[in-house]
Amino acid sequence: MERTIKLRVRVDYITYSALKEVEGEYREVLEDAINYGLSNKTTSFTRIKAGVYKTEREKHKDLPSHYIYTACEDASERLDSFEKLKKRGRSYTEKPSVRKVTVHLDDHLWKFSLDKISISTMQGRVFISPTFPKIFWRYYNTEWRIASEARFKLLKGNVVEFFIVFKRDEPKPYEPKGFIPVDLNEDSVSVLVDGKPMLLETNTKRITLGYEYRRKAITTRRSAEDREVKRKLKRLRERDKKVVIRRKLAKLIVKEAFESMSAIVLEALPRRPPEHMIKDVKDSQLRLRIYRSAFSSMKNAIIEKAKEFRVPVVLVNPSYTSSTCPIHGAKIVYQPDGGDAPRVGVCEKGKEKWHRDVVALYNLRKRAGDVSPVPLGSKESHDPPTVKLGRWLRAKSLHSIMNEHKMIEMKV
Ligand SMILES: [Zn+2]
Repeated sequence: MERTIKLRVRVDYITYSALKEVEGEYREVLEDAINYGLSNKTTSFTRIKAGVYKTEREKHKDLPSHYIYTACEDASERLDSFEKLKKRGRSYTEKPSVRKVTVHLDDHLWKFSLDKISISTMQGRVFISPTFPKIFWRYYNTEWRIASEARFKLLKGNVVEFFIVFKRDEPKPYEPKGFIPVDLNEDSVSVLVDGKPMLLETNTKRITLGYEYRRKAITTRRSAEDREVKRKLKRLRERDKKVVIRRKLAKLIVKEAFESMSAIVLEALPRRPPEHMIKDVKDSQLRLRIYRSAFSSMKNAIIEKAKEFRVPVVLVNPSYTSSTCPIHGAKIVYQPDGGDAPRVGVCEKGKEKWHRDVVALYNLRKRAGDVSPVPLGSKESHDPPTVKLGRWLRAKSLHSIMNEHKMIEMKV
């Protein structure tokens, strides 16, 4: 992991000219190095350096020799990214053009201290004394350390832009002690906390459809360019609302996983969107929108949050996760017409009842390699506790929701 901090320093004319002189020669070396790479069809730093070092050393006798190394590195990076652009058909020139030059420095070419930074030039060392911005101290005073490489760029008016790079070791994710499977659906997200299923309502489909009706009502027989219409559409804030739901849910799940040192288990590939869930929505655009916010965006939000907390995420094969009994391995039969409980099915072998989402949770956990026993015929298996959107949005943790639910159960 690295972060670059930019410092701006105004320097005196002598210092500026010494740096300007370096910049000029550095540019020449860089251009030669790029041309060498192009004509020898290589982007490798080692090969470019081996190819140009001797001649460049002759040409630039007074230039501190390490600038030739860093210019070769610079050339290799530029050629690399040019190659990538070319592959994507996004390069507009035959070769990488050197317009702006940022001079790269290695540990021989600069020294850091808090009162001054020294830079090697053909006139000996020059010094710049930056005032450090707040953001600098934020990195300087923590586990980040200053990297040996740095860069500078010259701006008009004797101003030097100096780039300091901070580095930090990539922290390792922990070895999971358990699993929290998460099953995404069009109107809810289910999780298994301490082996107990819980269904959190997200109403994604309902919210999307609701907004769609309101949007239609606003725009019917009126141009979307109309100012009044634009203002009303903007006030709908559909996206904002969904983002709040996603972020909060991702946070609750990841926090739970982090505190119990568990890994999160998700379906690897997207389930086919209209499978059994949104096929009733006729408009394909709308179906796609529901699908995105309920499945892909939700999944991405969880993965992103997990990265931040360094919680491992296990992605497993999603096929048949909701139609195979996690105990008997037999088929679970759902009533074709839905009936009173369209999401509840019966195991062909044991005849016990299962809620579709609970089945998926146990199967996801199993596929991640967890062999903990699955409760047979419990009430939760076919009638999991369902938490309303407004309730969990205000909750501090999934555990607190579960405890509250237990209290209610006990009173009943
Ligand atoms: Zn069964």
